[in-house]
Amino acid sequence: MSTLIASISGIRGIVGETITPEVVSKFAMAFGTYIKGGKRVVIGGDTRITGDMVKSAAISGLLATGCEVIDIGIAPTPTVQFLVRKLNLEGGIVISASHNPIQWNALKFYKKGGTLLNKKDNVKLMEILKSEKFAIVKWNKYKKLTHQPELTELHIREVLKSIQNINKIKEAKFKIALDSCNASGSYITPRLLEDLNCKVNGLYTKPDGYFPHNPEPNKKNLKDIVNFMSSKKYDAGFVQDSDADRLAVLDNNGNFLSEEYTVALAVHFILSIYDKSAELKKRYNKSIVINLSTSRTVEDIAKGFNAKVYRTPVGEINVAEKLIKTRSVIGGEGNGGVIYPEVNFGRDSLAGIGIILDLLAYSKEKLSDILGRFPKYSMMKTKFNIEGLSPDKIFKLLEKDFGDGKINKEDGMRFDFDDYWFHIRKSNTEPIVRLIIEAKSKNLLDRMMRRLERYFK
Ligand code: MG
Repeated sequence: MSTLIASISGIRGIVGETITPEVVSKFAMAFGTYIKGGKRVVIGGDTRITGDMVKSAAISGLLATGCEVIDIGIAPTPTVQFLVRKLNLEGGIVISASHNPIQWNALKFYKKGGTLLNKKDNVKLMEILKSEKFAIVKWNKYKKLTHQPELTELHIREVLKSIQNINKIKEAKFKIALDSCNASGSYITPRLLEDLNCKVNGLYTKPDGYFPHNPEPNKKNLKDIVNFMSSKKYDAGFVQDSDADRLAVLDNNGNFLSEEYTVALAVHFILSIYDKSAELKKRYNKSIVINLSTSRTVEDIAKGFNAKVYRTPVGEINVAEKLIKTRSVIGGEGNGGVIYPEVNFGRDSLAGIGIILDLLAYSKEKLSDILGRFPKYSMMKTKFNIEGLSPDKIFKLLEKDFGDGKINKEDGMRFDFDDYWFHIRKSNTEPIVRLIIEAKSKNLLDRMMRRLERYFK
């Protein structure tokens, strides 16, 4: 039997094992008890065939605790999140296990203002759940459930509004290849692209409930679109994960460099127009926020524009809260998660697509030429099994051996040197340690990897 994983970004598990109607409705009742005021909640999710069961149980729990529920059907995570903010709702729930395989499903909770629950909010939610003191309402206090899939259009309109060079994009008639993994992005993304006068060739844009490949948007899982793009000329290829918060980008030659380049492209464009945009200057500071695991490429690009760079612990809510606090103009996570406050306080693949097309139209350059100028590093993301080992001892030893670097301890440990850095974090749910390492050359990367591996034997 698998375990139910409850973390800061919600709960996830295998359907029928740990994700059952009882579990889901209890979490929804806890959430319905936690939120206050008008208790209007928007709910949406991806295309997994288990989605209807999970959503029905969640809706049931919400209605029982006096919530009014707006169901928008199949929709990306950022669309649900956007609507919480736009319609000034008290909460949102997304039903999607994101990049996890199809037998999984999950709930993510959003609060007023359109951000994920933070650590403090989560502690409160879990207290309510454990006490089972749910604010169940009397039969005559029930509110309505409505189905309003048309609200997704508001998200498209907001992305269009955020674009600087909309006419230039329309004139360019970009040819775009799209892989939405037959999931949340399948309906909405072609609509956005067609509104921008793009010619869209969808590879997996049929939301039939089955994923054609593992939905994690990394090199391993992108073989199909690479083949697809080899038969025809495109200006760009876009790949979304199953809940369409993350975005991977292929260039005009169908090359996929790394998911780290999505945020790099977004930061590059927004900072290149920042000084000329009175609107952006009025609302935001010339700074960016990325997490501690994000590529140094992004930092180098930002510094090239004299922008301040803030780094936060890994996790969307950490980046989002820092963006709000510092009034930074753009940010995100290296795994393909662009966060553009003009549209959303969460990772938004549609906002990311808008920015990248904006960049292409504005620069009149090919994506491969723009990417060719970006600072290049070699990166490796890996994990070590630490069963029987003491991670604290390993961390102490690393601190001693790599003590001449700059050390950041906000989230595990990050060691920074001139020509390489690495970030190492303990998992809260499995006996593993995750390592991200980036170096100026492949040679140095391999050498450092061999050195670090020894600590985990
Ligand atoms: Mg996702």
